Amino acid sequence: MKTAIYPGSFDPVTFGHIDIIRRGSEIFDRLIVVVMHNSTKQSLFDVEERVKMLQRVSAEFPNVEIDVHDALAIEYCREKKVHTIVRGLRAITDFEYELQVAHVNRQMSEQNVDTVFLSSDLKYQYLSSSIAKEFARYGSDISKLVPDFVADRMREVYGFKEQRG
Ligand code: ADP
Repeated sequence: MKTAIYPGSFDPVTFGHIDIIRRGSEIFDRLIVVVMHNSTKQSLFDVEERVKMLQRVSAEFPNVEIDVHDALAIEYCREKKVHTIVRGLRAITDFEYELQVAHVNRQMSEQNVDTVFLSSDLKYQYLSSSIAKEFARYGSDISKLVPDFVADRMREVYGFKEQRG
């Protein structure tokens, strides 16, 4: 049984993440999406809400689970005896940082944790949670970036009234 984890902040989940979850769930027998809870990083949604959003978007994938972790991804891998991390790779900007983290994770983990990169769908190359937040903050239509229920919550948090008909 091949298990992988897909760690990230998911603050909040976007169509780019969902695409990686879907594709990862087709490659691995079991995919654990791990919300990395970094207390020094200011987040828009608390961990519980990020988990609920991920549960909702993953409901259609029976081999996907959602979990939470507040330390290193390789620690989580050690605890769960998982050897593979999935990460999404967008355009050029992600490359250097992701490669660095992947090398360090492999070196620092007892069980040589490997990282599998899935190239972002062309449609989502420039999509990030930060971009979605930037647009939501000014009340823009973000229906192409995140699921409707996530967009609704972002509008609420930023103080915009429900705009969908
Ligand atoms: P982190 O803070 O760990 O980068 P994110 O929630 O921003 O967490 O991203 C989690 C993972 O999803 C990362 O591997 C990131 O590269 C990937 N990802 C984010 N946005 C996209 C996207 N639009 N397409 C593909 N992968 C993405």
